[in-house]
Formats: sequence, C-alpha cells, structure tokens
Amino acid sequence: MMAPAAGRAACQISGTGLCVRDLGHRYRAGSGQGFALDGVSLDLPPGAVHCLLGPSGSGKSTVLRLVAGLERPSAGSIALDGQTLCDREHWIQPERRSIGLMFQDVALFPHMTIRKNVAFGLRTRDAAKCRRRVDELLVMVGLAAHAEKFPHELSGGEQQRAALARTLAAEPRLVLLDEAFSALDPGLRVEVRGSVLTILRQAGIPVLMVTHDPDEAIAEADRIHVIEDGRITQSGSVSQLYRSPATRFVAGFFGPVLRFRGCPEDGQLATPIGPIPVSRDGQQGVEVVLRTRDLAPVAAGKSPWRATVLACRDLGDRCRVELAAEGERLGDIHVPSSLAHRVGGEIGLAFDPGAMFVFPWPEGLNNSKNGGIPSRANH
Ligand code: ADP
Repeated sequence: MMAPAAGRAACQISGTGLCVRDLGHRYRAGSGQGFALDGVSLDLPPGAVHCLLGPSGSGKSTVLRLVAGLERPSAGSIALDGQTLCDREHWIQPERRSIGLMFQDVALFPHMTIRKNVAFGLRTRDAAKCRRRVDELLVMVGLAAHAEKFPHELSGGEQQRAALARTLAAEPRLVLLDEAFSALDPGLRVEVRGSVLTILRQAGIPVLMVTHDPDEAIAEADRIHVIEDGRITQSGSVSQLYRSPATRFVAGFFGPVLRFRGCPEDGQLATPIGPIPVSRDGQQGVEVVLRTRDLAPVAAGKSPWRATVLACRDLGDRCRVELAAEGERLGDIHVPSSLAHRVGGEIGLAFDPGAMFVFPWPEGLNNSKNGGIPSRANH
C-alpha cells in the first residue's frame, strides 16, 4: 500500500466537483514489473474543463477508468460533490456514480433513431417528460432536425453531438472524455470539440478530458495535468506550463524546439550553434531546450551563436529558413522577407537565455522519475 504524500489535504467531503487524492494502481505484467500509477491528485471544480495530457501508455485512461469506477485503485481516494466514491472503506458502483463517459467510438445504437438513443440515457420513464427532455437536449446540441434519423444518416460530428445528448440525458455530475474527438477529421474536430465543451461548461458540469495532443489541451483546458509514466509531473494553466515547464516533455508542447545535450564545462555547454551558458556544472549532464520561435536572425558574426542556411522558402510576408549546424539539421525559423538569406551561407542567431530551459540529462538523475526540476538558464 502506498503512503499518502505528505502535506496533501484529504478530499474535502463538503467540496463540490471532483477531488482525487494520491491515487495508485498497478497492472501486473507477465514477467516484468508492470505499470504503476502513483500518487495522482487533482481537483476539478464545477464547470471547469481540465485536461489529462500525456504520451501513449502514461496512464491517462487508467485514471479515467478509476474515476468512473471501472477499476478499483490500490491506493488513494476519489470524491465527487462531497461524496466519497472510493477509498479504503468506501466503494460506490460505477452505475451509481452519475458520471458520463464519452469515448472516441460514440457507440450509438445503430437500430435506434437519434431520439431513441438519447431517450435511452434518461432516468425518467414518463413518456411526456421523456419527449420534452429529449427535445430540449436535441435543441441544445443542434440536432432537433435529426431526431428521427438513424446514426448512419448523421456525420461523425453529428453522431458525437448525439452521444453528448445521450450522456447529458443521464444528468451526470461529471463528464469524462477519453480522446473523444480523435476520430473526427481535423477541421471538424475543432468545431465539434468547441461546441461540446461549450455546452458542458454552460451546464456547469466539470469535464476531465484525456488527450495526447498538446494543441488540444492548450486550446481547451482551464488547467492541464501532465502525466508521464504514471505520475502527474506538472499541473497548471497554459501560461504556467509555457513559462515554467517542469519537464522536457512539457517544454516541447508549444511548437518546435532545439534540444542540446551534454556536460557543461566552465558554465558553458558546447553545442553545434556555439557555446551556451548554463548554470549547472561538473559531472551532471544537461539538456538545454530552446524554442525555435525564440530565435531571431542577426548578421553572422554579431552573435556567438550561428547556423548554416539549408533552404529558404518565401512565404510572402516572411521566409521560412531551414537551419543546420555541424551537418545536423536543426529546424526552421521564420524571418522577415526583407532579410534575404543565401542558401549555404551563415546566419547569426540571437535569443534571450532567459527563454531557454535546462533539465538534468539523462533522465532519472536527481533521484526523480521525471528528470528532476528544471532550472531556467539564469544569465
Ligand atoms: P494511456 O491512456 O496514457 O495511453 P493507459 O492508462 O491505457 O495509458 O495504460 C497505461 C499502461 O498500463 C500501459 O502501459 C498499458 O499497456 C498498461 N495497461 C493498461 N490496461 C492494462 C491491463 N488491463 N492490464 C495490464 N496492463 C494494462
């Protein structure tokens, strides 16, 4: 049994919304150690949209399954609107939790009309009340004109909204979305996701949304919980994650980055673009992460950092310049069209060292599973 992390308050019984504390779970593998979820805690207030974001296999769906009651945790507690759903002494069955689950596969009944599919989720069996409530829900999700159609007669986005109406029919206290929009094509995905989340926000229903796509989390979440290898490594708003990423993974969320690894000497890390000052020294290896959007072109020789122009593409108002250094492709930067760049020539690179991030490398140093707390370069 895992000990609760020190200093964390237990779930407040009087609190509203979802409260998860020190959740642990283990899957046994045939031979190896298996997967472990460890010390997962989060608070989700009513009407808020929180994202659980992590790479494939990091434990996102496991957290949702535990909250929904589809699996029983080995440690920790979950409470919803002040009611303990599970801890060492309590266990509420999944069908009694009033939690709506939406997956990528909308799973509408194919032999039922949209009206009947939505009515299936209702608690009441009073025919008049049923009809009124289904009409209300179909108006809410913009499908009033499709009530008598069958699922196969609806587009993917319309089916997703029908699934939302069916979920709302059950009056959930919480909605869990597990990669619910990833089957939709990109344009439709943004539109359907936006309308589904707007409806849930207006209904005041808290939403915990699982995704592996940072853009989705950045676009929709009030708060992002980053999960890596079964642990939450950072929770915060988009701007907190942008300004102070706690891990290498988070530092890469906001567009392309350059990563340089090695052991700094005399306060400098030797990199293909030139020596970069870092505050860590000695045996400790580091990874320096630099967002390419923070790189500005300057005349060669005007900066200690430089690269070779591999290619230059005119985009009208600006150029996309592909950079390389020491024979290695680095990435692209955008520069004003007025600054011509000769392919094969050198370009100087300027950046604010305060905008780069330094992490211990390799991961696992500093006795931390996630690679330790980063330090911003400080010069
Ligand atoms: P994610 O949703 O982040 O992709 P999951 O929560 O589905 O990750 O899975 C986390 C890890 O647990 C994965 O390594 C997966 O293979 C493993 N896992 C998931 N379900 C089971 C299970 N029923 N039995 C054993 N291992 C499982």
